[in-house]
Amino acid sequence: MLDIEETSEVQKNQDMIFNLITNGEHEQVLFCYDKPTGLKAIIAVHSTVLGPSLGGTRIWNYQNDQEALVDVLRLSRGMTYKAAISGLNLGGGKAVIIGDATKIKSPEFWKRYGQFVESLGGRYITAEDVNTTVGDIEIVASQTKHVSGLPLEKGGSGDPSPFTAYGVYLGMKATAKYRWGNDSLGGKKVSVQGVGKVGTGLIEYLLEEGATVYATDLFEDRVSSLSKRLNIIPVGSEEIYDVDVDIYAPCALGATINDNTISRLKCEAVVGAANNQLEVEDKHISLLKDRDILYAPDFLVNAGGVINCYTELEGYNKEKALKNTEKIYDATLEIFSKSNTEGISTLKAAMEIAENRIASNRK
Ligand code: NAD
Repeated sequence: MLDIEETSEVQKNQDMIFNLITNGEHEQVLFCYDKPTGLKAIIAVHSTVLGPSLGGTRIWNYQNDQEALVDVLRLSRGMTYKAAISGLNLGGGKAVIIGDATKIKSPEFWKRYGQFVESLGGRYITAEDVNTTVGDIEIVASQTKHVSGLPLEKGGSGDPSPFTAYGVYLGMKATAKYRWGNDSLGGKKVSVQGVGKVGTGLIEYLLEEGATVYATDLFEDRVSSLSKRLNIIPVGSEEIYDVDVDIYAPCALGATINDNTISRLKCEAVVGAANNQLEVEDKHISLLKDRDILYAPDFLVNAGGVINCYTELEGYNKEKALKNTEKIYDATLEIFSKSNTEGISTLKAAMEIAENRIASNRK
């Protein structure tokens, strides 16, 4: 039971919670708790105007509940823009689970989580994200049909990461074409932050095309083991902001483009997989512009994964997923051109296209 002091604390938090929800214009936020398994999750449905909200489930050891809430609200909003700009009939949603991914998972835990997803009746469709695997999602699927990213052998679309990596690579080529007049990445220097599923896939494309790749990860052993297999130049996790490169590719977590990092960046373009790369959108896009760093909007170039998941909902077809992912190249060029013609930032150009699609559907 809550005592009076705790209740007033909750009252204060309630204002904070609704302020956050109102600011982001979210439709619904579900807080999930299960005592036997210790599951603590937050599912945010940002928009269902274009269709059911879709977004992965992330496990992260957040320092506090507020950090988790802010993350899920930012991520779910990003999913709305991602689906809208990619022409998908999907809304935006996301879920975060609070805890240490190496300790909290169990089959019961995932089943309980699946029941919470089911309780939303299809308004939210889940998938993999940071620290969740296809195997985890399979257990979730035993409790709800509102999942995507199931194994290929079970009629699903499998791991979305290779499609995300492919889309980021194509977005990077389009960025090179706009910036340097040629879409070849051969001879370009690229710094990749995070050598996880997407970062590694992207590095493989880059090396194949003859780029020089500087790579880092919070876990140094991941970089050192990758360097045994691929010709990368390992750098420290802080040093990544200081390396002299043509392109910086954030493929770890969000908000790495911020007050502390922008002045250090020596690149001419930012193109990466991480969601919500700009810590404060308006402020940091304008600081990038001041430094003449071309920004490829994250929700546009990292849409390959959700495009693949969407294809699963329609009856999976890999060729179709690849073809739709390839549209990222032209879409990126279109955003740069709109930004140039209208004198607005690349972020605003991309957001306007997404918002117009949502607005016309709402009518
Ligand atoms: P992942 O968990 O496989 O890899 C992330 C890697 O980043 C890990 O190796 C982690 O140790 C590292 N990392 C975390 N913080 C770091 C830091 N400060 N510095 C350096 N390294 C750090 O995740 P992923 O699937 O490769 O996704 C990467 C990013 O792309 C995430 O932000 C994710 O939300 C986003 N994204 C992924 C997909 C997808 O299909 N997987 C789709 C869209 C967006």
